[in-house]
Amino acid sequence: MKESESLSSENIEKISEYLVEKSEFTFSCPYCGGVLHIKETYYSIPYLGRILIVSKKCSKCGYKHNDIIPLQKKQHVRIYIRVEKDEDKYIKVIRSNTASIEIPEIGFSIHPGTQASMFITNIEGLLFRLQEAINRMKILEDDKKITINLLNRIPKEGFTVIIEDPLGVSDVLHECLGYGKIIKEYIEGSDN
Ligand SMILES: [Zn+2]
Repeated sequence: MKESESLSSENIEKISEYLVEKSEFTFSCPYCGGVLHIKETYYSIPYLGRILIVSKKCSKCGYKHNDIIPLQKKQHVRIYIRVEKDEDKYIKVIRSNTASIEIPEIGFSIHPGTQASMFITNIEGLLFRLQEAINRMKILEDDKKITINLLNRIPKEGFTVIIEDPLGVSDVLHECLGYGKIIKEYIEGSDN
């Protein structure tokens, strides 16, 4: 794939850096009775606190499920990041696989997929991940398959990244709160 040459994946950190504890065990698959492998992983992420990721995978029928459980109380959050200057591209975010991402200036939005993984990256790395997602989608225009190039569409005067996460796990790393225009909005009434 040549489309994303101008974006780099170097900035994407693996969340495994923050692993605290891991346990694995097996259970019986609720769908086929096969062997269900359950992995519980605890992470302690700077400024975010502890989260637990439970992943289940059946070796027989292929059933797969991941849950992210924040161990500290979190609220449904919407984060607006305005990117105008070059240094704004280094604002670091944590994106949970329960979050949707929107860039309203180009009418782009992406919703969490089951295969999405959690990652920590800066805005540049985030664009790279979005470009990868776009490359996987088939877009038909005038009977031809086309690939949208995000960088070509983004306005030079700047753009806004909106991350919305009902579980409140997604965040901007605190060390980045000093620069760029970042607004965090907590959405009430979604907490049961
Ligand atoms: Zn199964």
